Amino acid sequence: MSTVALGLPTTPSDRAEPTDAPTTGPLRDRFGRVAADLRVSVTDRCNLRCTYCMPAEGLDWLPTDAVLTTDELIRVMTVGVRDLGIRSIRFTGGEPLLRRDLEDLIAAMSARPERPEIAMTTNGLGLARRMDGLVAAGLDRVNISLDTVDATRFAEITRRDRLHDVLAGLAAARSSGLSSVKVNAVLADHTDLGGLPELARYCLDHGYQLRIIEQMPLDADHRWDRASMVTADEILAVLRDHFPLRPDPRPRGSAPAATWLVDGFHVDGAPARIGVIASVTRPFCGDCDRTRLTADGALRNCLFAQGETDLRNVLRSGLTGQDLDDALARRWRGNTWVKSAGHGVNDPGFLQPSRPMSAIGG
Ligand code: SAM
Ligand code: SF4
Repeated sequence: MSTVALGLPTTPSDRAEPTDAPTTGPLRDRFGRVAADLRVSVTDRCNLRCTYCMPAEGLDWLPTDAVLTTDELIRVMTVGVRDLGIRSIRFTGGEPLLRRDLEDLIAAMSARPERPEIAMTTNGLGLARRMDGLVAAGLDRVNISLDTVDATRFAEITRRDRLHDVLAGLAAARSSGLSSVKVNAVLADHTDLGGLPELARYCLDHGYQLRIIEQMPLDADHRWDRASMVTADEILAVLRDHFPLRPDPRPRGSAPAATWLVDGFHVDGAPARIGVIASVTRPFCGDCDRTRLTADGALRNCLFAQGETDLRNVLRSGLTGQDLDDALARRWRGNTWVKSAGHGVNDPGFLQPSRPMSAIGG
């Protein structure tokens, strides 16, 4: 029976359910990929204003009652790990640390018998004072976003003078004993290539794994330009000028970053690595195993998807117990089934999705 047949309300952006989607098993798509990595955006709000992500004045935030509650998020994530084969969950946003119940969400998932791996992507503001509680709740890994270690440039990029807070968050993450602390950097401007060796050196000296992400067309201002973006090749050329890099022999699997070993540097006794995520110039859609939930309860099968599947209406439909879980699982399988083969960023007819990165969850 379809969701519509159950009398569940749908929203205009809501994708119609495919009739040929699987009704059992994990989250599969028509191309044979299986989605086992869930990105959960817990808020669209943020306390920074990175130029490649948000306008200076911020965005029209979701109204509070549109955002999924603690219980609603736990319900959806539980269906994911128990019934749909989700093996890892990454909390993101907006800025996930703005949510006070983050520790409760992590604790609920780490207590599951299926125990997914639990990670978070954060800008690091306020992380230092919450780090112990997050680890106690069950956080396994953290990625902290940092594009430069130059305080002036940091303030220009993020429009806030908070570099010291981010560095304190990184140090707290490293001393908390987490298995890996990664730094996510976006180079939004070619001038930032000049600061890259200093950022890389800082990460290598402190035991953080730097991953540089090609900027994607997900900025709220729609200023992204394919012809002028900083490419993975340019990033690697600068890194090779300053560090002895060797291709990482480890298989990449579904990981987005291609990694290199940095001769002469070690982290906890293992060779140090640097990664480059060439989402635009070398898309890895064929290996993608992601599925995404936005803060207002929309499923997205790709960052660049034009359609979404609304779970909030299902959660608030009056269904309970197994009927609710079945309806959530059915909609989720349908959303994954219709995932496109590729993100299409390099196609002439590419359309930027209406939600910016901060409202999807990176
Ligand atoms: N606020 C948190 C943070 O900055 O880590 C989590 C959300 S943020 C949207 C997640 C990641 O997306 C960050 O590492 C950020 O650098 C990256 N990001 C934001 N806009 C991007 C864009 N247009 N292209 C590529 N990465 C982007
Ligand atoms: Fe906020 Fe993260 Fe976007 Fe920067 S990248 S504005 S920290 S959501």
